[in-house]
Amino acid sequence: MDKWDVIVVGAGPSGLFAAMEVKRLKPDASVLVIEMGKDLEERKCPLKDVGRCLACPICDIVSGFGGAGTFSDGKLNLTKDVGGDLASIVGEDDVWNLIDYVDRIFLEMGAPRKLYGEDQEAIEKLKSKALRAGLLLIPFRIRHMGSDGGYKVLMNFRKSLLNMGISFRFGAAVDRILVNNSHVRGVKLTSGEELESKYVMVAPGRVGASWLVKEARRLSIKIKGGKVDLGVRVEVPYEVMKEFTEVLYEPKLIYYSETFDDRVRVFCVNPRGEVVTESYWGIVTVNGVAREDYKTDNTNFAILVTTKFTEPYKDTIAFALSIAKMANNIAGNQPIIQRFGDLKRGRRSTPSRLSKSIVRPTLPSAISGDLSFVLPYRYLKDILEMLQAMNDVMPGIASDHTLLYGVEVKLHTAKLDLKKNLETKAIRGLYAGGDGAGVSRGLVQAAASGAWIGRDIAKRLHG
Ligand SMILES: Cc1cc2nc3c(=O)[nH]c(=O)nc-3n(C[C@H](O)[C@H](O)[C@H](O)COP(=O)(O)OP(=O)(O)OC[C@H]3O[C@@H](n4cnc5c(N)ncnc54)[C@H](O)[C@@H]3O)c2cc1C
Repeated sequence: MDKWDVIVVGAGPSGLFAAMEVKRLKPDASVLVIEMGKDLEERKCPLKDVGRCLACPICDIVSGFGGAGTFSDGKLNLTKDVGGDLASIVGEDDVWNLIDYVDRIFLEMGAPRKLYGEDQEAIEKLKSKALRAGLLLIPFRIRHMGSDGGYKVLMNFRKSLLNMGISFRFGAAVDRILVNNSHVRGVKLTSGEELESKYVMVAPGRVGASWLVKEARRLSIKIKGGKVDLGVRVEVPYEVMKEFTEVLYEPKLIYYSETFDDRVRVFCVNPRGEVVTESYWGIVTVNGVAREDYKTDNTNFAILVTTKFTEPYKDTIAFALSIAKMANNIAGNQPIIQRFGDLKRGRRSTPSRLSKSIVRPTLPSAISGDLSFVLPYRYLKDILEMLQAMNDVMPGIASDHTLLYGVEVKLHTAKLDLKKNLETKAIRGLYAGGDGAGVSRGLVQAAASGAWIGRDIAKRLHG
């Protein structure tokens, strides 16, 4: 059996930072990263060539070297309050140190020096404007790499990881975590091959979240109830949100809806960006990115409603995906697009109605339709109320021409029961980090959780 000191499952930011940190602190350790997707330069989404999402079984947008981070918008959210709950596990002081450390590495790899969210006077004005409309604005510092800039940073990162002597296996999916007497002993691939290791770090991201839950159940690792984020991607002319995006890049707005008292939020804002698709096990959903070298006339962002189910319902991933699947069914496996004006009037958008929109869609493969056939009343009502509230601070958001794409889901996974060092309480030597373990929801905290794990493993390897 092939033997390693450390095996990392998943080459997203969390797994890569864990591998790097082990090697940095313990250069003679043998570290293998196993990734079911492709290496960096082989990753290529066929959407642009074919004109529609092919719902590939392994989606190049979310899988491969760099994980979901590779074609992400590359926004580095330098805060503990957005993009994960790492602070609640490792403590506030450590999380800030980790965020600074991750930022420093990204800068060394070529991330831009410009920071948004530092003009306090302008931020205070925007905050009070938002408050008057019943919206809470959470400001934070952001470094924006862009999906193209982020790719270049990853190329440098890849080179430096290979120079450190980290090994990679691409196109290899881990099927099982191997355990002996409550100690991890390695992994088994779907090909049947077994690899041995005293330490295993799993960082499978959102795409591997249900695999991890399945493994956790099999291994009797406790899981805390998950949440679900469901909503739509909104596209408006750049001018509509400019006052906020030029100061903050990403105006994080929170709203408690009037009818249901649900927490509704603005997420992943992409000024002058594009709406994109991603697929989870063949189910097509939407997301958004912005590039540094190609600017559109639009800004897109998600409106998401967070729901935490109570007993006995636990499978939040299945809930979100069943709604996404319904949207796929009625739109021929493509996302739905609808004008806000059509949604308000209770009618579907058609190609001819859409052609009258002054906002040109940046995802032309989306099929004009009716989101009210797909989204439960509660979500639809929350989204409508949020758009109206936002319209008070950003006039034009609730215009008839605003485009809504659906559905957008954020697969918060159930949280694994972890110790402060992010080792599972049930299995010695088995660590879990990043989005897939329910620790993070963004690049920075995913990477920070990986670095934290890597340090702990290096310490134990030193004996
Ligand atoms: C379009 C898009 C835009 C985004 N924009 C931003 C942004 O601007 N800012 C931000 O902070 N976040 C953004 N995100 C989210 C961010 O990319 C994720 O939060 C981050 O990548 C999570 O890191 P991770 O390492 O936990 O998991 P991931 O990056 O998801 O990586 C997990 C990896 O594990 C692999 N894997 C899963 N299961 C297995 C298995 N069983 N065997 C082998 N390999 C496996 C997957 O193929 C994947 O490559 C965006 C995401 C997308 C999709």
